[in-house]
Amino acid sequence: MSSTTASVRSLYVHVPFCAHKCEYCAFYSEASSGELINRYVGALERELELVAGTLRPQTIFFGGGTPSILNLKQWHQLLHTMDRLNLLGAAEWTVECNPATVSLDKAKLLRDFGVNRISMGVQSLDERLLERLGRIHSREQVFKSFDTLRAAGFENINVDLMFAIPTQTMEIWHATLNEAFALQSEHLSCYEVIYEQDTPLFAQLKAGEFDVDEDLAYDMYETLIDRCEQSGFFHYEVANFARRAGAGRAAPRPVLSDPEIPDFACRHNVNYWRGGDYHGLGPSATAYIGGLRTRNWSNTPLYCEQLEKGKRPFETREELPPLQRAGEIAAFGLRMTAGWPFEEFQKASGFDLRSEWAGQMSELVNKGWAEESPVRFRLNRQGLRFADSAAEMFLR
Ligand code: SF4
Repeated sequence: MSSTTASVRSLYVHVPFCAHKCEYCAFYSEASSGELINRYVGALERELELVAGTLRPQTIFFGGGTPSILNLKQWHQLLHTMDRLNLLGAAEWTVECNPATVSLDKAKLLRDFGVNRISMGVQSLDERLLERLGRIHSREQVFKSFDTLRAAGFENINVDLMFAIPTQTMEIWHATLNEAFALQSEHLSCYEVIYEQDTPLFAQLKAGEFDVDEDLAYDMYETLIDRCEQSGFFHYEVANFARRAGAGRAAPRPVLSDPEIPDFACRHNVNYWRGGDYHGLGPSATAYIGGLRTRNWSNTPLYCEQLEKGKRPFETREELPPLQRAGEIAAFGLRMTAGWPFEEFQKASGFDLRSEWAGQMSELVNKGWAEESPVRFRLNRQGLRFADSAAEMFLR
């Protein structure tokens, strides 16, 4: 069942600023301005104060936007506030970084306060495609920033890549994977380009500037899985790959409870996929605690204004009926290759997957998309390709 509000163990913080908006991006973020960032940092401190009493974070994730865009002074202020509020010491603390905004001083400061995982938004290592996507960094900055992060003591780094980018060929994808593997990161996240409405890339597609080649996208995904497995990465979620400990890499502590999940899996995301509670702070962030889902305003000045008045900046609050929430939990968990151990599902949702969803499970097994054993149910490689449609069958 859900944890009590006194013991929420996961914290997400949204930093809604970027140096420049990428062509494909539909996240809530805006081009940075010094004054607004200062105001945001102050508001976030208020929000941290409001939730600190119900939070003992074991995982923290600063995402965005571009968290690394905060300058040293702003990070100092935030980290000291977290220290004062007793929020340091998480087993896993990730900060997303853009390769263009990493410096040794900033990396060391984060490391000193307990940040121990970096997620680097690389997307491609092809100069032409980086420009096509509207990324602000060069391929050289990726290699340099990676070395800087290692020099600052980070032993757990994720590299984000994209595939099926317009004009990307299979040859370019192979070359990018070769270079990404050579970095020897602990984790890889690889997403197929999505054409979200209201993005420049979507407008270009609608205007007929390029075509989507679904067969090529499928081949790129299959290539990705095969090559990751050959390179020592374990495919543990639709788009995520992680190494196991060993060969000079010590496992992060504490050890994960499901041995099917690799040591360097992102524990913060595993908590989402396994139905755990979490606080979400910052503009547009969602939280889920004890049956209540809230979402903050996706408007930074309004978010700041609410907190300056001492109020929680909720745009929406939604109480989820237990069966509806259990359906969502089932759907999320199926994105992982480890699927759902029946016992774990019962603990997370209060329902038995085998009685409530027996029909959906056998339909997926009959389709050749899933496997059931006495202890767990999971999608197989074929099923994972259609994870969204499979997951939808479990929603109530
Ligand atoms: S850096 Fe990330 S959040 Fe910012 S615009 Fe690009 S994709 Fe969106």
